[in-house]
Parts: sequence; C-alpha cells; structure tokens
Amino acid sequence: MIKDIVSNEEVKRFFKNELKLNKKSGTYLFYGSDSDQLLEFALYFSKGLCCETLEGDFCDTCSVCQRIERLTYGDLEVVEDVNGIKVDTVRELGYKSSSSASEGKRKVFILKEIQKLKKEAGNSLLKLIEEPAENSFFILLTNSLNILPTIKSRSILVKIKKRDAEELDVDEFTYNFFLGNSRDIENFKISDIDLQKAESYEMIGVHLKKYEETEDFKEKVYIYKCIKDFINNRHYLAQQEKLYFAEEILRGTNDRNLQRKIIEYTVSTLGNLSGLEERLKLKSMLRFPVNIKLVLINIFLNL
Ligand SMILES: [Zn+2]
Repeated sequence: MIKDIVSNEEVKRFFKNELKLNKKSGTYLFYGSDSDQLLEFALYFSKGLCCETLEGDFCDTCSVCQRIERLTYGDLEVVEDVNGIKVDTVRELGYKSSSSASEGKRKVFILKEIQKLKKEAGNSLLKLIEEPAENSFFILLTNSLNILPTIKSRSILVKIKKRDAEELDVDEFTYNFFLGNSRDIENFKISDIDLQKAESYEMIGVHLKKYEETEDFKEKVYIYKCIKDFINNRHYLAQQEKLYFAEEILRGTNDRNLQRKIIEYTVSTLGNLSGLEERLKLKSMLRFPVNIKLVLINIFLNL
C-alpha cells in the first residue's frame, strides 16, 4: 500500500490525492538521480492505477499488482533504449494507447530516460500526450529536467528524492559505496558480501565478463571494488598500468551502458574525494554523446 512505501512522504500524499481524482488519462514526469528508484515509484503508481482490489491505492498482493511488479502485466509497457527512445517506438505507442486495454481498463506506459530523447521522438511524444487516448497514462522518467520544455509543461512533475542512509537502514560507508542507490543497497542487505574486503583493480575485466553473463549482484560489487582499488592506488600506478585498466574494462564489456556506469561510478566516488571543479568537468564530459571508449581511456589515464 502507499503508506508502506519508504521515503518521499510528499510523493505518497500526491499519489493518494491524484488517484482519488479518478482521471481518464494523465502524463507524469518523475525526476530524480536514482533511475532504479524512479522505476520503483513508477511501478507503485501503476499499481495504484490498475490494482483490482483497492480504489485509489494498491494491495501489492492481487494478480495485477504482482504482475506489474514482475513487469508481465499486459496493460503495462516499460519502454527504454540506451541510445534514447526512437521516434518509431513512440509512434507505435500511439497505436497501442488508442487501442483498448487488453486486461484491465487502464493502460500505463512507462518511458525511461526521457533526457536521452532526440528532437523528432520528443515531438512525437508531445503529440501523444497532448491528446492522450482515454484510459492511457504515461509516466516519463528522467534524471534531468533539461528536456523539451513543452513535454515538461504538459506533464505533472513529481520529484523523487533519493533515500538517505537512515531510510535505507545502512551505515554511511555502505550508503556511499553504492552511491545511495536503493536497489543495490536492498540487494546488498540480503547478501553476505563483505564490503571491507578489497579486490585488485586488475581483476575488473574478469568480473565484467562474469557480470555480463550472469548479472550476479556479487560481480557488480566486485566491479565497484576494483574501481575503488584503482582510485586508491592511482598515485602509485604507471601510465601503462592505468591504460591496462581502461583496456581491461573495454575487453570486459562492449555494453555502452555498462561502460557509462563505470565512468559515473568513478566520477561520483572521486567527487567525494577531490574538488568540486574536477567533478563538474568530468560530469560535463558525460553529458554529450561522445565516444565512450575515448572518455573512459582519458579518465583513467588522467586520474
Ligand atoms: Zn492489487
């Protein structure tokens, strides 16, 4: 139920009031820095819209709520594209939203990473939300409000605040290790992983390969540990060793999204250590669709 959601009391109040209105359609823009948490809240709201047992809330136990949780509910669609959702995909959503719901009475479309949307796709989305089909709900997720202003003004803005260490019930060290990411921390809490035990940076390629194959959370933690080990030792490493580290990452994975995450983790971890200016510089490098490989090599060579 809404009352059981941890953190973001204001958002919980908003959910309650909004669901009470029993709207025919709606577009919401959820924004915040933790992408996993944005999806988590979007799913809560979707459950609120579609739950079969409760009006204006969700039970979390009925078949609809459970299928929404597992992303297998027929009237819920989660759309994402590492390179930004394409215009054709948005058009397809137009057809889907105008056809009738297959399971319940409402259809929910969650669109991830709206900040990556290119102009054409953005305009197409704008058309869609300007004249929404009856019983269609759009939940747009974004890390940044630097998006088409018209999309912003047509949506109801909902800011999702990152949970703090207390809300997640962990110590500061654990919280910082996972950069406050809710899902990582919840996974960590049910594991038996020892965060204090270091892992050599040289192992990063091995762990990346394993993580790609298995998506095992333990491997993800090893990857973080390798990055931390590299950062801790960066002043003692020769250029060759730094280059080796960057190359190991590129050998370990071709997944641009994963490579990006490695850069983001490095930048954020460093940000806690070094000056704000350096952090901003690194962050601005990430904002543009630059060659990720080059950024990666550059960052690790210059640390
Ligand atoms: Zn339910």
